[in-house]
Amino acid sequence: MSDPIVVIGAGIGGLSAAIHLAAAGCRVTVYEKNGAVGGKMRHVAAGGFEWLTGPSVITMRHVFEDLFAAAGRRLEDYVTLVPVEPLTRYFYPNGAVLDLSREIDRTLAQIAALSERDVEGYLGYLAYVARLHRVTGPLFVYADPPTWRDLFRVPPRDALAVDVWRTLDRSVRKHVRSPHLRQLLGRFATYAGASPYEASAAFNVVAHVELNGGVWYATGGVYEIARALEKLARELGVEIHTGRAVERIAVEGGQARGIVLEGGERRAAQAIVANADVTTVYEQLLPREVVSPRRLARLVNAERSCSGFVLALGVEGIHPELAHHNIFFTSDYRREFDEIFHQGVPPGEPTIYVVITARSEPDHAPEGCENWFVLVNAPALGPRYDWETGAVTYRDLVLARLADLGFDVRGSIRMEHILTPLNIARLTGAYRGALYGTTNNGLLAALRRPHNRCPDVRGLYFAGCTTHPGGGVPMVTLSGRTAARMVNSDFGFDHSAIRNLQSAIRR
Ligand SMILES: Cc1cc2nc3c(=O)[nH]c(=O)nc-3n(C[C@H](O)[C@H](O)[C@H](O)COP(=O)(O)OP(=O)(O)OC[C@H]3O[C@@H](n4cnc5c(N)ncnc54)[C@H](O)[C@@H]3O)c2cc1C
Repeated sequence: MSDPIVVIGAGIGGLSAAIHLAAAGCRVTVYEKNGAVGGKMRHVAAGGFEWLTGPSVITMRHVFEDLFAAAGRRLEDYVTLVPVEPLTRYFYPNGAVLDLSREIDRTLAQIAALSERDVEGYLGYLAYVARLHRVTGPLFVYADPPTWRDLFRVPPRDALAVDVWRTLDRSVRKHVRSPHLRQLLGRFATYAGASPYEASAAFNVVAHVELNGGVWYATGGVYEIARALEKLARELGVEIHTGRAVERIAVEGGQARGIVLEGGERRAAQAIVANADVTTVYEQLLPREVVSPRRLARLVNAERSCSGFVLALGVEGIHPELAHHNIFFTSDYRREFDEIFHQGVPPGEPTIYVVITARSEPDHAPEGCENWFVLVNAPALGPRYDWETGAVTYRDLVLARLADLGFDVRGSIRMEHILTPLNIARLTGAYRGALYGTTNNGLLAALRRPHNRCPDVRGLYFAGCTTHPGGGVPMVTLSGRTAARMVNSDFGFDHSAIRNLQSAIRR
């Protein structure tokens, strides 16, 4: 029997790569260092509460449908994705509240209350982001990493219309005037771990998938998506070993030959897909002599995307003013991003995201209580803030700010769990705890993401949020598909297996 393809890490990108490879008839083995699959998609339970301490907003439903279809299955037979309404409730420092709704007329009525003339502007913005998706999607999202040559194939009319040489904030300003709406639309840059004042307008595509495509929640909790992918992978014959950390990648003659597990056991591999952070792989898993020193230095020294500070709170009492997803905006958005990306400190007056899944899932909190998942954008780990000593101080700051905003839960917290950028780094191997690897700030960032095919070692590929096309659950799912496609094309695997499987299932 030939050696398997080894996947390092069972995050969503790793599971997606494993599923695509197994569906194409390959033998696949996954090694995951944690006790469960999912990576950053996690859930924690204690005292009758359940929290999802990772992704909460799921977009691009079609990406998950396509993944299951590639294996001849139907998404809905494994996990139920239901729409969330409102998408998010936004609270502003001046007391204004805006519900972004799936129903456009409801959203427009609220925008009109803020600024009558922004109704047209918002509709123009929705048309613009839909066009942006049509033009850039095939290039930056759904295909292999783009090259300069690909960019020059974009018809000049489209290239001009999509405006990618401006920052995201500037392109938003062109469409709407209300500072409230500008802040709301600017926030989509954070879905890529970036600043609206520095990321390219190309990241407005995130607004398209949420505002034009909708937000989904998995019945039972978003972690059900990880469970569904694990189930599908196992059904396809993928071996998944949890609690098995990979210590080293064995390379011979410039070719990846296998892995060494913690404890010293070796496993041969035909090819390797690393779902772990690209920089961590370069710095810790690859032998130094096979790595280009310049590339390693570039990866290690690159600016990072942001990280996150999470509080999972079991709160007594019900807060009917809060929806499933809630955002409390800061009064100074520019300062927030300056603190994160330039000063390297957590924001003094942060924008706070509060998710209460118990709104949709009563089992997630005991009667009369709520499960709050509180998330604040934070800088990647660096010398300016010590989370070992600063976590509790920052927790107090976030809770005091919520109290100032009218939600003082300090006396009613029954259970509590803190997750800092340091914990995120330890749990998932994220280099400096950055959620999406190297930065997406800068107009050329999308062209600079590490490639899915390792340029230094043949037979080594990357899938996940630190490579192409980027972070977020749907994007890493696509990343797994891209990595699998590259393995298949480099190794010339026979795809008849998947065709046979599909026709067998149809029969
Ligand atoms: C707090 C938070 C909120 C988020 N909110 C959203 C959201 O609302 N919507 C959204 O779409 N996305 C969100 N994201 C981002 C999303 O969760 C990630 O982009 C995505 O889950 C990352 O998947 P991945 O495939 O890159 O793998 P990761 O989740 O990074 O997993 C990598 C896996 O590799 C394993 N690994 C690493 N090194 C080794 C090794 N040496 N040996 C074995 N295993 C190893 C790790 O343990 C881990 O399980 C959020 C993330 C966080 C942290």
